Formats: sequence, C-alpha cells, structure tokens
Amino acid sequence: MATMLSLRRLLARSHAGFRFQFQHTAAVAVKNEPILEFKAGSSERQALEKVLNDLKGQTLEVPCVVGGETVWTNEIRYQLCPFNHSHKVAKFCYADKDLINKAINAALSAHREWDLKPVEDRAQIFFKAADLISGSRRADLLARTMFGQGKTVIQAEIDAAAELIDFFRFNAKYAVELQHEQPISESPSTNTTLYRSLEGFVAAVSPFNFTAIGGNLAGAPALMGNVVLWKPSDTAMAASYTVYKILLEAGLPPNVIQFVPADGPMFGDTVTDSEHLAGINFTGSVPTFRHLWKQVAEKLDKYRTFPRLIGECGGKNFHFVHKSADTVSVVNGTIRSAFEYGGQKCSACSRMYVPDSLWPEIKKNLLEEQKKIKVGNSFARNKKWIEHARSSPNLTVIAGGKCDDGVGYYVQPSIIETKDPQDPIMKEEIFGPIVAIYVYPENKYQEILHLIDTSTPYGLTGAVFAQDKNVVAEACKVLRYSAGNFYINDKSTGSVVAQQPFGGARISGTNDKAGGPHYILRWTSPQSVKETHVPLTGWRYPYMK
Ligand code: NAD
Repeated sequence: MATMLSLRRLLARSHAGFRFQFQHTAAVAVKNEPILEFKAGSSERQALEKVLNDLKGQTLEVPCVVGGETVWTNEIRYQLCPFNHSHKVAKFCYADKDLINKAINAALSAHREWDLKPVEDRAQIFFKAADLISGSRRADLLARTMFGQGKTVIQAEIDAAAELIDFFRFNAKYAVELQHEQPISESPSTNTTLYRSLEGFVAAVSPFNFTAIGGNLAGAPALMGNVVLWKPSDTAMAASYTVYKILLEAGLPPNVIQFVPADGPMFGDTVTDSEHLAGINFTGSVPTFRHLWKQVAEKLDKYRTFPRLIGECGGKNFHFVHKSADTVSVVNGTIRSAFEYGGQKCSACSRMYVPDSLWPEIKKNLLEEQKKIKVGNSFARNKKWIEHARSSPNLTVIAGGKCDDGVGYYVQPSIIETKDPQDPIMKEEIFGPIVAIYVYPENKYQEILHLIDTSTPYGLTGAVFAQDKNVVAEACKVLRYSAGNFYINDKSTGSVVAQQPFGGARISGTNDKAGGPHYILRWTSPQSVKETHVPLTGWRYPYMK
C-alpha cells in the first residue's frame, strides 16, 4: 500500500508541487444548493432586480476565446430575447474552420499539463466556480438566463443557479472520491488505477434550454483532465459565456476549455475531421446526435482512439393515470410538467393516458387550472402541432390553442384530446406547452401500459399515478425500458443532481446519467499499473524442476 501511494504521489507531485494528498477518508461532504424563493423584499430579489434593470436593453459582447485570446470573426450573429425580439441580448461571432482547428491545437497543447494536475486541484476550481455562482455571480447569471432563454425567475434559479452549482460540486466530489476506487494488490506487487483523461480533445455541444447543461457538458470532461472545445447554443450565448468567464475567474487555465460559438454543422464537420477527437459530449435533438454519430462512424479509420459519444436527446414523456390515482396530484403534476418553461424541458409531459372513469373530474380541474396560467414566452414548431390538431378529425383542442409571435414568441398552454393513441401527437417530441390526452376504458389499463411502452421510440421520462400498489408494481415491470427517469405519483420533470441522476435510453440518448457518480467515468481512460517489488530471479516454473 505504501508503494502504491508513493507511486501516485510521485506522479502527482512531478507536475503540481506538493499539495496532492490521498486521504483514506474517501467521502467529500457536499449538499444540494438550496433553491432561493425570491419573495418580495428578500435580499436575493433586490439583487436580481437591480441586475435585471441594469441589463435591460443591453447587449453582451461575446467573442470566441481560442488559445487564451479573444477573437472576432466577420460572421456576426445576435441572440434575441425570446419575449422581446427588439432586445439583442448578445452579439457574438461564428468561429470558422481555421479558428476551430486553431482551437483544437491550442487545447491539445494544454492537455498533458492539465491531465497531470492532481484531481484535487482540478476539483478545487469547480468548487470555487460553484461558490461564485452561489454568491456574487448568481444574480448576473440568472438575469442572463432570464433575458436570453426566456425563463421566469424560479425556472432560471433551478437551472442556472441550483443545478449548475450542484453539477460542479457533486462532480468534483465524485472525481476526488473516484481516486479511492483502487484494485487489490497481492504481494510482492502493488496495483494502482490511474484515472487518466481521454487522449485527444472533447467536443462539447450544448442545447439552448438549460444553462446548467452547457456548463456540465464542458465542465465535467475538463474536471476529469480533458481539454474541451465548447460550442454553445446560439440561443443560450449570453448565459454560456457568463459561465465560461466564471470558470476562468475560478482558476481554470485559459486553454483547457476553448469557447467556440460556431455554425452547428460547420463545427460538427470540423471536429469529426480531426484525428485527435476523443469524445463528443452532446445534448440536443435526436437528428443532430444521429448525424454526429454517423459522421464519426464514417471517419472512424482516421481517429487515434475510438471517440466516446455521449448524447442526451429528446423524449415523449408520459403520465399514465390509473383509476386508483390521486387526481389532485395528477392535475397539478401535469400542469407543472407540461407547461413550466413553456414545455421546453426534455422531460416535459407531452402525452397522458387517463381512465374514462376519472376523465370528467380530471378534465374539469385541468381546464380550470390551465385558465390560471399567465402566458409566458415560448413558438414555430408548436404552431405546426396546433394546426395539426385543428385539422385532424381525431383531435380536439380542449384548452389553449393560440400562438402569437408579435413581440415575443407566445404559445398558449394547450390541452388536446385524441381519439387515436397512435396519432403523431402521441408519438413525436413537441417541445412546447402542448399535452395530448388519450382517454381509455378503465379496465383496459394493462393494454395501455403496453401501448405506452411500444408507441414511441423514446425512453426519457415517465410517470405513473396510482394508489394501488399492485398496479404500481405491474407498471414498473412493463415500463422498465420506457423511461430512464421513472416517477411514481410524481410528475415527469424536476430531477435533482445526485438525487435522480438524469438520462434516457432508446433514441433518447446514451443514458450516461448526468448528475450521478458514474457520469465522470465516461471522461476518463483509466490506466492499470502493476509494480513488482522483488526481482524476478528465474524463468522456470516449479513444476519444471
Ligand atoms: P439541437 O439539436 O437543434 O441543437 C443542439 C446543439 O447542436 C446546438 O448547439 C446546435 O447548434 C448544435 N448543432 C446543430 N447541428 C449540428 C451539427 N451538424 N454538428 C454539431 N452540432 C450541431 O437542439 P436544441 O433545439 O438546442 O435543444 C432541444 C433538444 O434538446 C430537444 O430535443 C430536447 O429534448 C433536447 N434536450 C435533451 C436533454 C436531455 O438531457 N435528454 C436536455 C435538454 C434538451
């Protein structure tokens, strides 16, 4: 054991001074960040109101950051506020092919030193970044998320503050603890696992809807010693750049993450062309991830290593309601899951199955609650679904159904009843405040469970509402593969880091469970080291004598 420790210390010290200490108390104490309430008069509300006022009408300049330097290209773009198109939230530029290649080289040149830095030092940077977001930078990041991605204060708080802080802190904890996962040693040798990063660079491609996801897609591989090219979403630019700046402020060396806004396909083509591509950390739609995967497959012969492909994609998340369900939970859970953040959460409920015996009561209460929702901002593909509902004989719009893109992008929370459980509205991702409902004969619930399992190719989230324990057990079995995040008597959204690690399989993604302890394993390429402490004095085996 002594030698095993000395080997690790030696490797660590050779590059990073003498701070690295393996301790035998493995656990690092971390708690979920409390979600602030922003009640009238609270200090957090006052701080936020001030920043919102200061940023009103302001445009953040967002350059590319490559090789530690800010770079402006001629391809200028703007991020518009979704609820007021006249407000340019950010001015940014697209990196071209040359600049992306430059970013790859700059990242690669920083790789060795960063990878050899003790994990505790790397973790420290992420703990510091989390502290900054929790404290002095909270209001700014919330305001950028609210203006840029059209979130209410509480939606911004659970995303850009609570979830991002949790990602940084828990991943850092898991990374430090992982070093204690060591193999057994048999005398006269000692065995060690070294958690190296992947060899090459990681491309992180993030979606528009969650500030926290961007931070995690770029941050988690970096924490594990990788160098990263981060391509943020055009419509999350201001918040993504703010997160990047916070990481630098927390001590992240300049070249570890290259910040490269770019046209999506241009970025994808260029990074998959590099022999040094070691991984892609993607969150977004199924077609984009499939496209990237195919590009990697086509170019497989050129890579120095098999690139790791991690993708979290869309869902067609269900609420199944049994006749034994508590209808109050069904109604409130569905309103929250289907309509919060305009239904633009990958886990948002967009299909629901209700027994005919409960439908009159659930319908009445759903419609009553729907009327109380103040329409926020959210649009285009949603309009297509509303038009589909209006023109199909199988579908009835029973609430909502209006869209308006005058000042911002507004879609009314809409409830659509379908007579056909195989209608596209029950099968395809909508990604907007639209929930489709199929009313089934209550004694046919077993058929409905099978229908839920087989009628879409997705497997992200889903919920079962039933008080009857036997039905719950039955549903758990039938729906075992239909959801990576499965809820019993709770809505299909709202996963919390370290409590419900998130991700789905089937076409919803590679199910690597962001926010859980195993996620970081995807960003390491462990090396097994055996060291023998006595000389090998002969080559013959005893039986030969
Ligand atoms: P999107 O696929 O349109 O874009 C995602 C990112 O990919 C963007 O940065 C975009 O510029 C980039 N991109 C586009 N084409 C590319 C290409 N050829 N090569 C490389 N990059 C390319 O998705 P979106 O509209 O930003 O996000 C919404 C989708 O994301 C929904 O389907 C939603 O369900 C999903 N999502 C999933 C999760 C999850 O954890 N499962 C979380 C959030 C969002």
